[in-house]
Amino acid sequence: MRPSFHPRLVNGPFEDPGLFIPFLYEKRALLFDLGDIHNLSTRDILKISHVFVTHTHVDHFIGFDRLIRLLLGREKTLNLYGPEGFIKNVEGKLSGYAWNLVANYQNRFVINVSEVDKNTITTKQYRCKDGFISKPNRSSKAFYKILLQEPSFTVSAIILDHRIPSLGVKITERFHVNINRESVLSMGLEIGPWLNAFKLALFNNQDPESLFKIHGGPENNVLADYKLGELAERIAIISPGQKMAYIVDSVYREPSINEVIRFVSGVDHLYVEAAFLDEHRDIAQEKYHLTARQAGTIAARARVKQFTLFHFSPRYTGQGHLLEAEAKKAYDAAISSADNEAHLYFK
Ligand SMILES: [Zn+2]
Ligand SMILES: [Zn+2]
Repeated sequence: MRPSFHPRLVNGPFEDPGLFIPFLYEKRALLFDLGDIHNLSTRDILKISHVFVTHTHVDHFIGFDRLIRLLLGREKTLNLYGPEGFIKNVEGKLSGYAWNLVANYQNRFVINVSEVDKNTITTKQYRCKDGFISKPNRSSKAFYKILLQEPSFTVSAIILDHRIPSLGVKITERFHVNINRESVLSMGLEIGPWLNAFKLALFNNQDPESLFKIHGGPENNVLADYKLGELAERIAIISPGQKMAYIVDSVYREPSINEVIRFVSGVDHLYVEAAFLDEHRDIAQEKYHLTARQAGTIAARARVKQFTLFHFSPRYTGQGHLLEAEAKKAYDAAISSADNEAHLYFK
């Protein structure tokens, strides 16, 4: 299966945290956390439509300036999400610059900023044309873990305990549509943007009996039309969707950690911080961070298929392998003890 999302960490594990998630066949991407983003090309940054900032410690938010700088003067809507207090933090950033020249810009650049607390998601809009002034209008709705819902995927969040609120974030694809390229070509059709429209029709639950028009060529003419259901049967392979979670900056403490484990349960790929070694677990606890051992335990208890560690404390520079080894050991131990328990139970 060719995955729809191709996540990659923006930086090395000792540098600022951030996960860049480009979409297959689309000039679009999501970003989890907004630390230093100089490792992303301008081309990649321009693809970003939504950024989910876990919290506004400087290593998670310093990339804001670069992002805004590159988007100025472009036709773009940027959506930012963060925890309680995020709107004030964004306004603080925006009010740090003089914007007297932007009123002349022809393009419409708009920033929607949403912050969540336990029960509510509140959104405000800032327009480049208005010098990003803060207007009183804001909209609020109930927050049930969902930050963003689109036909093909959902981004959800939980609030982690980092002495301040920090967001744990997850992306869940509804189902996955894989295109059988040979079938497309054998039907005399080309591989092109119409495949995205075709997938969208499936995600929008369009009537399988409805006629789907295939556009293409230099003039984007209608090249052919098929019943949607019939076309799906010939060229689409439907499978379970991808699930990825991103957990940074959280203390490991019962019972809140159980909620984290439930949230990331069964994901294909977990990106999880491992700031400290177990020998420094007191420091981790004091600073509300995870140790590598705790990260491995979470991954095992949640039965994730794969996990990647990052956000290492600089005190371990050159010793990343120790963090990796500790997490793997904890993962293997927790998996085998859970398996033993299951054996006893089913005897
Ligand atoms: Zn932090
Ligand atoms: Zn951090």
